[in-house]
Amino acid sequence: MLQAQYVGDRKISISEYTPKNPEANEVQIRVSYVGLCGTDLHVVHGSMDKRVDIPLCFGHEMSGVVETVGSSVTQWKAGDFVTVMPLDWDGTCPACLSGHQHICQNLNFVGIDSPGALQTLWNVAENWLVRLPNSISLLNAALVEPVAVAFHDVKRAEVKPDEKIVIIGGGPIGLLIGLVARNIGAEVLIVELDSNRRELIDSLGFKSVDSTKIDLEEYVNLWTGTKGADTVFEVSGSSVAVLNCIDLVKVRGKLIIVAIHGQPREIKLQRVFWRELSIIGVRVYERTDFESAIDLIASGVIPSEKIISAVLPLSKLTEAIERLEKGLAMKILIDVQQVSAE
Ligand SMILES: [Zn+2]
Repeated sequence: MLQAQYVGDRKISISEYTPKNPEANEVQIRVSYVGLCGTDLHVVHGSMDKRVDIPLCFGHEMSGVVETVGSSVTQWKAGDFVTVMPLDWDGTCPACLSGHQHICQNLNFVGIDSPGALQTLWNVAENWLVRLPNSISLLNAALVEPVAVAFHDVKRAEVKPDEKIVIIGGGPIGLLIGLVARNIGAEVLIVELDSNRRELIDSLGFKSVDSTKIDLEEYVNLWTGTKGADTVFEVSGSSVAVLNCIDLVKVRGKLIIVAIHGQPREIKLQRVFWRELSIIGVRVYERTDFESAIDLIASGVIPSEKIISAVLPLSKLTEAIERLEKGLAMKILIDVQQVSAE
């Protein structure tokens, strides 16, 4: 059995390990596919060294098949197709007690705060599992977690049909937010600097622009008849985007903060005051978002085959990360059961 671990100093090690038997309340999953995301890059780049225990087996976007179950597990059996909602809350903090377990004040994000999915056989608590219907392939099911993020974001933003929304940042999450919002009936503009990504975004029927080449405020004013966008999603993580995107929002419109901003940002509060804007934070997802994400992928609303840029064997994990760092891919999946002969 093999596991991939971040071992510090921007390095990854792939090594043999002997899996433990699952505890009474655990299920052992034979992991099929693991998607790599920006957070995984942050881990490998060392930006989260203070938070993670090194070595760390990371990976939290996944699909797999139940291999065996612990003695007290009754809801799952070998052969079940599953994904994992990688959130483990304490159930006792003020956030949990007010019904917001997904943003528990002591949240264990599985794959960052505890071992994740980049291993042949993975033991997880049975209540983290989400069942996959036959209508979704294991390959596409590796997208459930990021689609759940997008679904949660659009839900929190209360996007309505015919609204005009602007998404700053056309990476996987920005694009998925666009797909979910368009499915509701919203008109979507995606701002993205990378021309390869814009080509993919345009091929999916979206309007996309490079904000370094146009006056974005003027463009949005023309697009909306001077009204401004109903909602702007900040998905880029860029300080310039935060400073300028507030100018795009209509009176009583919303700015949704999706990206992780590791630094304090400058923001035009006068504009927030003047137009009576709302700024809303969005983070991870709830279980119903996971279930909705499965439906959106199974029904083809999410064009999985276009979003998955490549599937690489576990042995090529470092190459996969390099390709993501260079912006050469939208979403790369790791086939955990496949190890190339090289
Ligand atoms: Zn809690």
